[in-house]
Amino acid sequence: MKKSVAMVAHDRMKTELCEWVVTNKSQFQDRKIVATGTTGKLLLEHVPGLDITRLKSGPLGGDQQIGAMIAEGKLDALFFFQDPMTPQPHDSDIRALVRLATVYDIPIACNPSTANYLVSSPYFDHPEKAPGADSVQEQFHDYLERKID
Ligand code: PGA
Repeated sequence: MKKSVAMVAHDRMKTELCEWVVTNKSQFQDRKIVATGTTGKLLLEHVPGLDITRLKSGPLGGDQQIGAMIAEGKLDALFFFQDPMTPQPHDSDIRALVRLATVYDIPIACNPSTANYLVSSPYFDHPEKAPGADSVQEQFHDYLERKID
């Protein structure tokens, strides 16, 4: 099955994400990309030839759609170029998305330099070989089996 990644960029980081994807296009040739609405629209315009699906715009539920895909085990990585200097109307959705990526141990790149490390890691192609890949599932088992008094 094709590996899938999600892409989101805040408005002031959208150009940067598009340029970064152009530079790293070969890393995404065999992957499915899902993106929040406006980010996806710009990616389709700037990087033709990739398999890009647009979801809803972030503030209209797109971040939550990506969070749901992470919870369902449908995403392998999240590229989320954030603007730390501008308040976002959907801050609670952003925090929820980052939280779910943390819960499910999905790699998240919140800036270009981390994105560079992510795509150049051998684990980008083979996440199952990463140390501790099973421990999250074990934690879920412990959580689901916990006793409630
Ligand atoms: P957008 O959403 O791509 O629709 O602008 C981005 C975001 O969630 O901040």
